[in-house]
Amino acid sequence: MRGPSRQKRRNLVGSILLGALLYAAFFTGGQGLQNKKRTTTRLLMGTLVSITTWGVEEEQERQGVAAAFAEMARIDALMSRHQPQSPVAQINAAPVGSPFSVSPELVGLLREAWKIQTLSQGAFDPGLGQLIERWGFSGDKPPTLPPTKAAMATWLATFQPGEGIVLEEGSAGEESRIYLTNPATGLDLGGIAKGYAIDRAIFKLKEFGITNALVNAGGDLRGIGHKGEAPWRVGIQHPREKARLVAESQWPNRPDTDVAMVTSGDYERFFIHDNKRYHHILDPKSGYPAQTGLLSVSVQANSATEADGWSTAFFVLGEKQSRKLLPKLTGVEVLFVRQDGSHWKSVNFLGKWLGKP
Ligand code: ADP
Ligand code: MG
Repeated sequence: MRGPSRQKRRNLVGSILLGALLYAAFFTGGQGLQNKKRTTTRLLMGTLVSITTWGVEEEQERQGVAAAFAEMARIDALMSRHQPQSPVAQINAAPVGSPFSVSPELVGLLREAWKIQTLSQGAFDPGLGQLIERWGFSGDKPPTLPPTKAAMATWLATFQPGEGIVLEEGSAGEESRIYLTNPATGLDLGGIAKGYAIDRAIFKLKEFGITNALVNAGGDLRGIGHKGEAPWRVGIQHPREKARLVAESQWPNRPDTDVAMVTSGDYERFFIHDNKRYHHILDPKSGYPAQTGLLSVSVQANSATEADGWSTAFFVLGEKQSRKLLPKLTGVEVLFVRQDGSHWKSVNFLGKWLGKP
């Protein structure tokens, strides 16, 4: 059988195009901005960061999203241990005891980190820079071998939990200074800085009048507002199968929704040596990757900074200890994925378990 003649085919293509144009005109023109959802993705802080907005005028969206990305890059330059010019890198490079002037912003985040350190009884520790360096979890690629027993013993004997970082607070109008007092201590805000960057991105979007947005930095995210008729829906990655979700969160479909969710897991950065998995979340007490029977911990909180800090802290503490702490932490909700594939989530954790890993 022969197909339609060339003329007929042309007419057919023409009417499909016309239909599509009318359809587009109806939905974008007819209903204005109501259906406009846009996502922009960039590579930042070693991960893909995407910002989705809903119902925002094009130019306002473009400017707001550009400002939010610029803000995240600014935070990375300020807090990263890997950028040699960053204050954090310079504090680490200075000889023990020699103070370095820092901005109130860095002091603010360090205080947040210290708060989590105190409440988690040292499970979260912003002073692990030297330890992470010894493990080699700093570069782009994960290491292939654990440090030698001797290197670990030296670190453990020298390190003093909670004591190696000193803040000299400036009086009004004066700069504060930070210095290290222990050669086994290094400032590392990697367990909390990504969350802070997400919070700052949300702050920028709001400055541009954007009230419906989702900032997603490799699965660590914060959403405000909603997506028109629908709430923001976000998945939690399966700790062992990249393409599968282990849970799905659906957030309240209200204009004032503001939820952050951050996941820490043993699958983000790791290597296998002698059939043993070594990952990048370290227990300050042993110096080794935390082994508490968990594959991942997802935390929801009022800010991504808190969610980030607590997801790392809970991963180190383990389920039992973390659950004891939970009642003290307002607005913090958690989902644990255990090594045996089972899970536990706090009553107000927004999310549906999708099945055993
Ligand atoms: P990711 O940033 O990879 O999503 P986390 O938020 O759990 O995962 O942070 C892990 C990072 O935190 C490590 O790469 C390291 O920089 C830092 N870190 C590791 N162990 C601890 C700890 N016990 N306390 C605070 N920070 C830690
Ligand atoms: Mg964290």
